[in-house]
Amino acid sequence: MGFVVAVDGPAGSGKGTVTKEIAKRTNLINVDTGAMYRSVTLECINNDISSTDLEKIKQILENIDIQLIRKDGNQIVLLNGKDVTKEIRTPKVDSEVAKFAAIKEIRDKVTPIQQKMGEDLDIIMEGRDIGTVVFPNADVKIFLDCSVEERARRRYKQNQEKGINISYEEVLESIIKRHILETTREVAPLVQPKDAKYIDSTNMSIEEVVNTIVEIINAKKLEIEK
Ligand code: C5P
Repeated sequence: MGFVVAVDGPAGSGKGTVTKEIAKRTNLINVDTGAMYRSVTLECINNDISSTDLEKIKQILENIDIQLIRKDGNQIVLLNGKDVTKEIRTPKVDSEVAKFAAIKEIRDKVTPIQQKMGEDLDIIMEGRDIGTVVFPNADVKIFLDCSVEERARRRYKQNQEKGINISYEEVLESIIKRHILETTREVAPLVQPKDAKYIDSTNMSIEEVVNTIVEIINAKKLEIEK
């Protein structure tokens, strides 16, 4: 196995932003696993399949091809060969994805693809179940937390920057709903791995979070080299 850093935490805790920066500084390949659940969700939405229609979802899973490739250091998501990197970040996918991500059959399809990536690459992988299910033996485990209000503020700002007009209250409601679904689902719920380092980013800058995690990674690398 390669060197694996697992970063878990709720939506809007800053995982995406900080792992991209950490990847650059530590020469690890950044893998955003949420993109995979978003791709399955997008494919179901495009085919008018609801999250309760398990038979149709199974058919979709038989033929679906999701690839995460690298382009100029960024992750590009290919869904059946088509670049959907932007399309998977729309509010429609945002509001549906947690329902689809709770489905066991979908997770059983996606998890082995993620595990394969860590077989021979040095990676920093972010998601909800990376340190608990995907890589229980990861070299470093981080649990990045943040208050719901701050997470909603961050997501609201990101939306504004992208020209997506949704009120703060709606964003907050969507984040709370997603949080409840993610932490209470039966399969691979979002929980802090016992052996993870807990970081609360509510009152921390991106730079501070990045520095904290880079220090943890470097210390682990030194320990392994000894
Ligand atoms: O991280 P992001 O918000 O893009 O993830 C989208 C959704 O995918 C999450 O709301 C969560 O329900 C699901 N997810 C998951 N397990 C992961 C990564 C994401 O269930 N490892």
